[in-house]
Amino acid sequence: MKYKTIDDIDVKGKRVFLRLDLNVPLTTEAPYTITDDTRIRASLTTLRALIDRGAKVIIASHLGRPKGGPEAKFSLAPVRTRLAELIGKPIAWSTDCVGKPDEDGVGNLRDGDVLMLENLRFHKEEEKNDSAFSKQLAAFIDVYVDDAFGASHRAHASIEGITHFVKEKAAGYLLKNELDYLGAALNEPKRPFVAIIGGAKISGKIEVIESLRKKADTILIGGGMMFTFYKAKGLEIGGSLLEEDKIAVAKALIEDKSGAELMLPTDTVVAREFKNEAEKKTVSVEHIERGWIGMDIGPNSIEQFRKVILKAKTIVWNGPMGVFEMTNFAAGTMAIAQALADATALGATTIVGGGDSVAALEQSGLAEKMSHVSTGGGASLEFLEGKELPGVKALEY
Ligand code: AMP
Repeated sequence: MKYKTIDDIDVKGKRVFLRLDLNVPLTTEAPYTITDDTRIRASLTTLRALIDRGAKVIIASHLGRPKGGPEAKFSLAPVRTRLAELIGKPIAWSTDCVGKPDEDGVGNLRDGDVLMLENLRFHKEEEKNDSAFSKQLAAFIDVYVDDAFGASHRAHASIEGITHFVKEKAAGYLLKNELDYLGAALNEPKRPFVAIIGGAKISGKIEVIESLRKKADTILIGGGMMFTFYKAKGLEIGGSLLEEDKIAVAKALIEDKSGAELMLPTDTVVAREFKNEAEKKTVSVEHIERGWIGMDIGPNSIEQFRKVILKAKTIVWNGPMGVFEMTNFAAGTMAIAQALADATALGATTIVGGGDSVAALEQSGLAEKMSHVSTGGGASLEFLEGKELPGVKALEY
């Protein structure tokens, strides 16, 4: 292990900068209220441990995409309120993440007290990984703790720059847990190791397919991207999603027989229009007609994929199998979620990553039946692509 965790550091009486990913969805109209507090709840274990061990905790996070200055709709104030409710103690507040914290009471914190800083991204220097800004963030702290897995693929000031100005740095439990699960799946998977890749576009998933090709035994492909593969095979795909400039890549992936076997669906649910109520039917992938749009994988594919999934010992899933937001085209995605739940019950390790597959999983009500549901969409994808995460590298000693 190249990095320390909070268990390796004595935090008692020390000012601990705790970088969390509290980037939760808020209503778009004032008063801005939290619509899903999953990320806040996911941060509690580390926060509680630091409080119990007598640290003076200073919480920092980003929220949304402000344009480099304060904006009420991106304030962390509602997050502070919810977090205080969840931990059952008050959280002091600093209206600015730099300069102000001293004034606003970092100096008054007693052991076990908590203070939250306003949105880091109210300063454009955060995303620029500005060195002077990083130094300012580090000015009032003794220890840096990163538990923001969802932001660890970004070399930002509070993730990367700050680590150059602190003596002690460590990972929190959420970050460690993510790295343990994803790392074990990639580097020492129990076999068979099956990866399921879906989603809208092949362009965002090429690197992950190429990387997993070297690690997994089978890759199941679904979602909108499957049609670019069919096009590459010379099939008619009607009005289905197509990335013209990715046909060559798809062809190369099909022709490359090294590494994991690539399995494409054999049938698809097609619709007359891109609408939930549209006329629909199931056809084999060889028989997609003009004027029809591929919306989901069909029942034969579900059956085939399910068999492969139930034999697997390690399963990684990223990206829905169809347009799951429309109930009439959610069956493929829901069936894959059920197959993963059943595989978990049979002893497989099941890992779901990526914003949309996690949303689909929530819709299926089966999230609890997975071994691990990643809190970081972009970060988990980059990890599976085999990239080193800047936030993790920055924790190395
Ligand atoms: P991604 O963010 O790349 O994982 O893509 C997720 C999106 O892919 C979801 O919003 C799905 O509705 C969409 N998607 C899945 N299958 C299809 C399809 N056959 N046609 C168009 N969009 C799709």
